[in-house]
Amino acid sequence: MPHYDQLVSLFSNDLIRILFTENPSFRCSCSRERCLKALYLLGLKEMQSIFEDGNSISLNYEFCNENYEIYTTEFLIYTRNNS
Ligand SMILES: [Zn+2]
Repeated sequence: MPHYDQLVSLFSNDLIRILFTENPSFRCSCSRERCLKALYLLGLKEMQSIFEDGNSISLNYEFCNENYEIYTTEFLIYTRNNS
C-alpha cells in the first residue's frame, strides 16, 4: 500500500495533506583521519606497544562495517603533524 494511502486509512477522520517528502539515507561519518585521531588520543606510548606486533593495525567500525588498515609510518606522520 502506498504511504499516502496508509496515512489516509490510519487517520480516516482527518484531512491528510503531504507537504513534502524526504528520503532519509544512512551514512556513517568514519574515515581514515578519524581512525588516526582515535589512535592518536590513545597516546604514543600505548600505540608503540600495539604497533610492536606488526607494521599495521586493523580497525573495524561496527556501525558501517568499514575496515581500515592503519600503518605504523602513517600513524607516526600523523602524530608528528599534530603535536
Ligand atoms: Zn563508517
